[in-house]
Amino acid sequence: MSTALTLFEKIWRDHVVLEEEGEALVRVDLALIHEGSFHAFRVLDKTGRGVARPMQVYAFADHYVPSTGRERGMAGIPDPALREMVTLLENNAARFDIRLFGLDDERQGILHVVPPELGMTQPGLVIVGQDSHSCTHGALGAWALGAGASEMTHVLATQTAWLRKPKTMRVTLEGALPPGVTAKDVILAVIAKIGAGGANEHVVEYAGSAVRALSMEARMTVCNMSVEAGARSGLVAPDDTTCAYLEGKPYAPRDGAWRDALAYWKTLASDAGARFDREVTVNAAELAPMVTWGISPEHAAPVTGVVPHPDTAPDAVKRAEYATALEYMGLAPGTPLSTIKVDRVFIGSCTNGRIEDLRAAAGIARRGRVVVPSWIVPGSMSVKRQAEREGLAEVFRGAGFEWRDPGCSLCSSYNGDELKPGERSASTSNRNFRGRQGPGARTHLVSPAMAAAAALTGRLTDVRELMGS
Ligand code: SF4
Repeated sequence: MSTALTLFEKIWRDHVVLEEEGEALVRVDLALIHEGSFHAFRVLDKTGRGVARPMQVYAFADHYVPSTGRERGMAGIPDPALREMVTLLENNAARFDIRLFGLDDERQGILHVVPPELGMTQPGLVIVGQDSHSCTHGALGAWALGAGASEMTHVLATQTAWLRKPKTMRVTLEGALPPGVTAKDVILAVIAKIGAGGANEHVVEYAGSAVRALSMEARMTVCNMSVEAGARSGLVAPDDTTCAYLEGKPYAPRDGAWRDALAYWKTLASDAGARFDREVTVNAAELAPMVTWGISPEHAAPVTGVVPHPDTAPDAVKRAEYATALEYMGLAPGTPLSTIKVDRVFIGSCTNGRIEDLRAAAGIARRGRVVVPSWIVPGSMSVKRQAEREGLAEVFRGAGFEWRDPGCSLCSSYNGDELKPGERSASTSNRNFRGRQGPGARTHLVSPAMAAAAALTGRLTDVRELMGS
């Protein structure tokens, strides 16, 4: 029997405590919670249990915090119900001695942005987060997955989780990305290829020369959207890029512990000859900037294309799905994607709210002025401060963008951060589901540079038209 293991299988092997009836009790290294955790704490209280390992739990005020008025603290949260949730998070974190990145913390930000930037996310860890996009952390070679309220209650009470072993899939991207094509385009192209359920119940490892060439932040964008293909998680094997990214970060190991960590991390890459349950290959050199035209991230196409006709769908179920999507989106088949007008632009979220995303957007923003309301919502306070230091905030303000405070904003769509019914956005978030950005809102997912281009033209735009102009 072959002993060659995949990256995921090595992490699994190192974390399983016991196996029973098709499930395994898995040791959890880090738990990440947000304001919605009050359900879990309520159950803990009712059952008289506490938090087993508070030092391995981090709390983030992100989903329900406003993107303006931060200087007013809690009073700046207009909706009393949301204010109560942020307050409960603060209270529960204090009661159980959990490190909170709260409303007024200088490191506040989204739970998938702050842990990597502080070095909490490390290769080989098992991370359970209270949000389906916890798969983001897999970019650093961790096995990271989202948990619902009852699973998170179990994690908080025991620092373990009962999990079914997922299958493995490898997506190999070879070749160099063409100019104007980014990690967001890569993952939208992958999801369009394999479908929104194409990775159901799998852990996806991204590999190949195109992935190795991606920065850590770009890898986070790719892993972040793995769940949109149905994957349990996304992973990239740790390499020199990973180690260089983590070195010196506040929560990264130091001195001898750093050397030990490096030695362990180097053992984690999938072994030559390791078998995956499914293999997918993509020629990265053939990719183009992508946009979504429908109500699923799989409804994506190169911006040079047209809105598809339902008759081109592969089967009757998909034909009906396409027709429903086009009706909701108010689009006619055959419409060139680059002629679709947008009402709003949102650059932010755990998919594309990092400093490299803002640099890419600013590179386009400096070439003109917005013609539609356009928001920049950094993924964290650290990103915000860094962007201000680099002069990016000035570029955005000078081009007419609104420069706002960190949080989920137009991804979770609370505190009035939402579109009006029928409004259409170019958005760097991860879900274009019906109503995700407000009832009746129409979302087109794009990369940060593509979103900035749309802000300057008022329509979905091939960013390559503006590059070099
Ligand atoms: S930005 Fe969106 S997907 Fe990411 S954590 Fe917030 S609500 Fe979840």
